[in-house]
Amino acid sequence: MLLKRLELNGFKSFAKRVVLEFPKGVTAIVGPNGSGKSNIIDAIRWLLGERDAKQLRGGTTTDLIFGGSSGKSKSGMASAALFFDNTKKIFPLHFDEVEIKREVYRDGTSFYYINKSEVRLKDLIELLSQSRLGTKGLIVVSQGNSDLFIKATPLDRREMIEEILGLREFRIKKHEAERKLKNTTINLEKTSSLIAEIEPHLKLLRRQTSKWEKREELERELIGLENDYFGSKASFLTEAYLAVDPLISELDNNISKAKRELKDLEESLLKIEKSEPENRSNLNKVRSKKTITESAIREIEGFLSDLKIKIALKERDSPENTETDFKEATTYFKDIYTEAKRLMGLKDLEALNLFLKRIISLGDSVFKESNKDNNVNELREQEEKILNNLRKEKKEFDFILKEEKELEKKLESFTTIFRKAFSLVESKKSEIGSFVEKQDRLKLEKERWSFKINDLKDQVRQAGRKWDDFLNIKKDKLSESELNEIESKIFRLRGQLSAMGEVDEALVKEAKETEERFNFLKDQLADLEKAVADLESVILELSEKIHEEFNEALSKISLEFDKFFSLMFKGGKAKLIKQKVEIKKIEEEGGENIEVIVPKKLNDIEAGVEIELTLPKKKVSGLDVLSGGERSLVSIAALFALISVSPPPFLVLDEIDAPLDERNAGRFSDMVQEFSKEVQFIIVTHNRATMESADVLYGVTLGEDGASKVVSMKMTG
Ligand code: ATP
Repeated sequence: MLLKRLELNGFKSFAKRVVLEFPKGVTAIVGPNGSGKSNIIDAIRWLLGERDAKQLRGGTTTDLIFGGSSGKSKSGMASAALFFDNTKKIFPLHFDEVEIKREVYRDGTSFYYINKSEVRLKDLIELLSQSRLGTKGLIVVSQGNSDLFIKATPLDRREMIEEILGLREFRIKKHEAERKLKNTTINLEKTSSLIAEIEPHLKLLRRQTSKWEKREELERELIGLENDYFGSKASFLTEAYLAVDPLISELDNNISKAKRELKDLEESLLKIEKSEPENRSNLNKVRSKKTITESAIREIEGFLSDLKIKIALKERDSPENTETDFKEATTYFKDIYTEAKRLMGLKDLEALNLFLKRIISLGDSVFKESNKDNNVNELREQEEKILNNLRKEKKEFDFILKEEKELEKKLESFTTIFRKAFSLVESKKSEIGSFVEKQDRLKLEKERWSFKINDLKDQVRQAGRKWDDFLNIKKDKLSESELNEIESKIFRLRGQLSAMGEVDEALVKEAKETEERFNFLKDQLADLEKAVADLESVILELSEKIHEEFNEALSKISLEFDKFFSLMFKGGKAKLIKQKVEIKKIEEEGGENIEVIVPKKLNDIEAGVEIELTLPKKKVSGLDVLSGGERSLVSIAALFALISVSPPPFLVLDEIDAPLDERNAGRFSDMVQEFSKEVQFIIVTHNRATMESADVLYGVTLGEDGASKVVSMKMTG
């Protein structure tokens, strides 16, 4: 038993809440025409997911809502709920009882619930198909459809069989996969065409931008080299430049210190100098005194020698001195003669003249003196006086010499001190000079470094770089040869870069974006291709499953069908066969028809089901020649064949026994009886035999208020 009960409220002719309990076995629903029996079947069909209003005998879904009667006003909504016993877990839900409920409102909105939780219709249908329930097949056979199996198309027949076999679940899955495959294929085609569209443009962009590809690399390399080159030079030059300053200021200190010292030295030199004039004037005085004294001595000596001659001349006159005088005179004249002869020999007439004048004047004075007639004694006295004078003068001269020596000594020591002080001043001056010179040299050096720095700054500017960038890069000092090597590399790189031309940023950006888009599309294409492959394999798997299970079941059903057919028709033959399927398919592609080989399994599951019959005692065959009753019999035989191979949990049949004659109606109720051990039956019938075989009988009547009523009539025995 699966169906437990049905609850209706405002559904079609059931204005009020009605509950129908379904026990195990057969439930027969009976009642007069138009009382609302089929409305119950409609409710079940609706609850099993029917979407087609026509199948529910209405124009729109709102026709399902009680429309009012002479005694009752119309309802605002219709609801129906079917309760299932789920202890055997026919539904893959953990509940022991499953309630499926649908509601429809006048505004057309409808709601679906599984155990009071709202769900989508899709979820409901999926759940039902997983439990081999649905409205496509023979689970619910509506009134007037007793020959459903015959009048159905081969494909509809297949659908009916698949629903009972529980293959509908796989069909839904396959359908879903196919829908996805279709979308995926569309996306794949779109993506492919986008790729095809982008690719030539991308190739062009790649060609245009490839020449700049290395540019970035080269630029990076250039920056690196410039960093080394300018960095090393900048740090070396700034260090050198800054190193000069302390030296200059040290010299500043030295200079001012030396200047202070010079001032001191000059002051002391001046002091020394001031002490000099006194000594010098004293010496000059002494020296002039010395000259005077000298000339005085010479005068006195001359006078004395004259006096001596005079005395000699006087004494010659005295006899005792005559010989001596004569000798002296001889000598004297001899001397005069010798001198005169020498001077004459020399022919120095001027000197001779002077000599003679002197002799003459001497002679004059002698004769004058002799004429004065001084006596010798007087002369001697005179001589003595003069000698005293001479002695005095000589003594004085000695004193002066001593004084001069002393002063000279003093002056000499002054000179030594002066020279020393002077040389100190001079050496200080030259020291200052050398400091200044050194400082000037350093200033010049600083100027040179500054010039070099400015030159480097110009180079940095020309390279389009910022000077500040290199101040923070502490680089090791590079050797001249290293710098030269780097410099030539820089020149080479700059040459290469300028040969490349300026980068067209917009073009590079476009190329980059296009490349990204291209890669994205490629990835997407790969994903889609994988999805297509996955879906195709899912579809193939599902198709195989459907194919195998269906084929296996169909041959069994066909045998059962033959059995039930010959039982009902008292002989004859019947079978179900699959339609022949075309393996080859013609598809149009690019205006040309090409033959496409479709895999058999994929194609085979689309094959419908044909019925082949041979009636007993009749020569004719085919479905068209069958009577109405015969059509119902064939359909019922097929139904029983189906449920004997794969019994469904329940069957809902609305007057399918109506066209049967009494004998066949009896046979039908026997078979229902037989199958009711496994299958729960809900049957609407006017057939007495069917009513009698039922376990429960519900009588449906139309009340005086115009609404349907249900009366339960439990059968006994
Ligand atoms: P028969 O034995 O002749 O097949 P039945 O018992 O199966 O009859 P139904 O077809 O179930 O009868 O009921 C039809 C009745 O239900 C009609 O009288 C119809 O007017 C009524 N009906 C259908 N839809 C509505 C509705 N929305 N509101 C009120 N009554 C409705």
